[in-house]
Amino acid sequence: MKFIADLHMHTTASTHAYSSLQEMVDAAAQRGLSAVAITDHGITMPGAPGKWYFHNLRVVPHRFHGVLVLRGQETNIIDYEGHIDVEQECEEDLDWVVASIHSVCMPQGEQPSPEKVTHLWEQICRNPRVNVIGHCGSPEYAFDYERVLPQFAAAGKLVELNESTFRTRLDYVPNCRRIMALCKKYRVPIVVDSDAHFSTLVGDFSHTQALLQELDFPEELVVNSSEERLHTYLAEYTRAFATPND
Ligand SMILES: [Zn+2]
Ligand SMILES: [Zn+2]
Repeated sequence: MKFIADLHMHTTASTHAYSSLQEMVDAAAQRGLSAVAITDHGITMPGAPGKWYFHNLRVVPHRFHGVLVLRGQETNIIDYEGHIDVEQECEEDLDWVVASIHSVCMPQGEQPSPEKVTHLWEQICRNPRVNVIGHCGSPEYAFDYERVLPQFAAAGKLVELNESTFRTRLDYVPNCRRIMALCKKYRVPIVVDSDAHFSTLVGDFSHTQALLQELDFPEELVVNSSEERLHTYLAEYTRAFATPND
């Protein structure tokens, strides 16, 4: 399977990533990718950029060094009602929202029941701003996959298979495998992302590729496996990209 886009990555603006936006786009161009999403962490993450960083992403051209650059955010889910931390002023400025649970941004001191996390994701399904369900294989935040994954598909939310999980969140891997097997079973569209925090990792999909091969995962469900599939998604679920050349 070939991948034409990498739609989750961080720059120095996140303060625990180490390449500039320009270096990330250049790395994508060198790897032959035609699209990226720059998705620095939402404001609740310690060290994240402030709202003006996201608001002003409009100065970054959508076409840069031959690459379509989506202005994005990895938004934090901040409670079990599925609230996210996109500032109202920035909503219009973002093309692409990856919604993720990071335990540091969630209520502290309780181990959530699977029912609570299931409810959280069902609320996210109702939020039109969210495009991607970020790295959702956490054992701590496990949920009823059989119940929620088909709802993601119906709501146009892409389930993420995240390369960084195989480097930095190894305890997620068994759940990721299960989630991907169920996405195949229920025909849930997915996106394969690097979640790169350094330029050399942009477009590196080695572990994710191996898992998809192992599962004989249907290519037509992988949104970033062809230009046509990506642009069909962008045209349907994002405002700014009705045609491939916008
Ligand atoms: Zn990060
Ligand atoms: Zn994350």
